[in-house]
Amino acid sequence: MPEEPWTILKLLQRTTRYFKDKGVAEPRASAEILLAHILSQDRLFLYLNHDRPMEPEELSTYRACVRRRVAGEPIQYITGFQEFWSLAIRVSPDVLIPRRETELLVDIVLDSVRQSRDTENSLTIIDLGTGSGAISIALALELPGTRIIAVDLSLPALKLARENVRKHQVEKQIHFVCGDMLTAMGDQNQMVQVIVTNPPYVGHTEMQQLPREIRDFEPRHALDGGLDGLSAISQIIKEAPSVLGPGGKLIMEMGAGQSESVSSLVVNSQKYLDFRIFKDYSGIERVLVAKKA
Ligand code: GLN
Repeated sequence: MPEEPWTILKLLQRTTRYFKDKGVAEPRASAEILLAHILSQDRLFLYLNHDRPMEPEELSTYRACVRRRVAGEPIQYITGFQEFWSLAIRVSPDVLIPRRETELLVDIVLDSVRQSRDTENSLTIIDLGTGSGAISIALALELPGTRIIAVDLSLPALKLARENVRKHQVEKQIHFVCGDMLTAMGDQNQMVQVIVTNPPYVGHTEMQQLPREIRDFEPRHALDGGLDGLSAISQIIKEAPSVLGPGGKLIMEMGAGQSESVSSLVVNSQKYLDFRIFKDYSGIERVLVAKKA
């Protein structure tokens, strides 16, 4: 007797059970996202086509994706996408997967630009460690008059960011620089109104405790903030004032529990007029806004 073919519904039920057994988070949603991905459809399609039989080739592609997820690979690296600021951002293991809490950085930059007296058209923003380009693209779309310099040390990251920039059609506003903040500015010091950055800030002890999805799959240089997690952060606090114009702002993400150390670094540098720390949606002190004197 021939075996009954796998239908979408049967496959989803089976994968959900398998993911559950293997301890994969959000088993049903993950099964659906992967299946929709390999069929190049959205999740609604799956609901409307429960009885559609799977082709053998589709089955084997799907099974390969399921195996990667069970081995710990983040679903976003398998599908190649993450949503950020309601935009589809392409991701790969060369870049950090943009996080929900990083949308707060974008929110704060927007508020700060809209409150300032500078007209949007004269603004230059540096996005330091742009990775996938998510922050730069969200800002470019929200602030069509600004110029954004997207900086990263990683060439493969810049390549992907460029792809994202093209996809969202903001090439005219975003300029790429491979290097660090100071190379990005060359000798054009004090020309920038805003530096926005999500630097690597995970300390070594914390790194060991990260879920394997992050620790074993996301790029280490985007996470590793040295022994205490503060090495990139302290360098940025020190260097930003030579790049910012008077009254310019450093807007930087930080890790849970770092706000006191970050505050001391800002105060001790004696280069800032004032600063504030904003909590994220989970109540964690997450974003520094420091205004240059
Ligand atoms: N928030 C990231 C995490 O999930 C860390 C990102 C970073 O170091 N900038 O661990």
